[in-house]
Amino acid sequence: MWDRIKEKLGILADSAKYDVSCASSGSKRKNENKGLGNASNGICHAYTEDGRCVSLLKILLTNHCIYDCAYCVSRRSNDVKRAAFTVQEVVDLTINFYRRNYIEGLFLSSGIFKNADYTMERLVLVAKKLRTEHNFNGYIHLKLVPGASKELVEQAGQFADRLSVNIEIPTEEGLRLLAPDKKREDMLHPMRVLKNAIDESADRGPRPSSLALPAAASPAKSRLFAPAGQSTQMVIGATAEPDLTILKIADAFYKKMKLRRVYYSGYVPISTDNRLPAIGTPVPLIRENRLYQADWLIRWYGFSVDELLSANQPSLDMEIDPKLAWALQNLHVFPLDINTADLLLLKRIPGIGLQSAERIVQARRYSPLHWDQLKKMGVAINRARYFIICKGLPQQPKDYAAEQIRQFILSAGHSKYHPNFSPQLALFQ
Ligand code: SF4
Repeated sequence: MWDRIKEKLGILADSAKYDVSCASSGSKRKNENKGLGNASNGICHAYTEDGRCVSLLKILLTNHCIYDCAYCVSRRSNDVKRAAFTVQEVVDLTINFYRRNYIEGLFLSSGIFKNADYTMERLVLVAKKLRTEHNFNGYIHLKLVPGASKELVEQAGQFADRLSVNIEIPTEEGLRLLAPDKKREDMLHPMRVLKNAIDESADRGPRPSSLALPAAASPAKSRLFAPAGQSTQMVIGATAEPDLTILKIADAFYKKMKLRRVYYSGYVPISTDNRLPAIGTPVPLIRENRLYQADWLIRWYGFSVDELLSANQPSLDMEIDPKLAWALQNLHVFPLDINTADLLLLKRIPGIGLQSAERIVQARRYSPLHWDQLKKMGVAINRARYFIICKGLPQQPKDYAAEQIRQFILSAGHSKYHPNFSPQLALFQ
């Protein structure tokens, strides 16, 4: 019996690893030489609403699927070993792992078997049993099945902390090409239902009366509807959309659907389907990384997509981060005086993050800042120095061209190549 469960766990944790909503799930490291800890498939990490990092059991309910999305390892036509957990098996595994302190929560997704509602019902039932029969208060992230009914989406939100429906392919044309069984509206509809229910719940406080729980569901009574909100994932590089299109779509999701996160998953070549990029050409990790950096600038630094990219330049620079790329294109804004520039502009200086910008504003209230204080505040001097005016800065910014600054920064790891190299300055690179 346990052997069969172990086999299912191997198959269904492996199939779940392509969902990047939990970032460390691809790790596979054996504990050798009596070391401490063991990174294995099936356990991943996520951040809760209050910023805690929690480990999650990350599995599919099943990798059987009636659909045939070209980019997916679980697609109908793929010749892989199939398995399916029962609802009770997932509940028991979660509780057992939780009691042994392996995990603090569950991330549950699924292939679609029979139809969307049949699958969604079972996902909801897992969460409901955990909350109501086991009084489980750990974190639960449920995937919503495209095309699931409004009622089931609303039920899912009563028991799960976070819900997500993966948009997968950024545009409708791409979806038609690679996932012809899926309709974009089937993914947008649950997102809208969730957005409305989350808004309603936040307005009313814990447990909206329109989504009343059965009396037996007492442990969940005081829960907000999906308190950790909703997220989505886009597969990058399986179709030809440039970064500009991807970021515009993500921005629209943040604004219209109030998503907490959009995850960018570089396409992993797992199929020889001729609609896909050739095997052997995986999306470089750096593209994912640059998209996350741009996404961060849009959500937290006040940048718009149009400031970062344009029709003439629709792809992010792979060599330098998007904030530095923006600064080099807008040198007329700089240099900024660190002691007088307002907070919004401070955040736009390469090398100055959100926290260091706040610290600068706090500290300069008492006395003008000297450059050697900036490093202690977390400023990356090797980048910032080309864009700031600051008391004591060994070399004030000169009239360098953007390309020169770019080269200085790219070679900053080899500071001896810098024309103004000084050992004192090198300490801060
Ligand atoms: S519906 Fe989901 S699980 Fe099924 S083939 Fe498409 S992406 Fe894979």
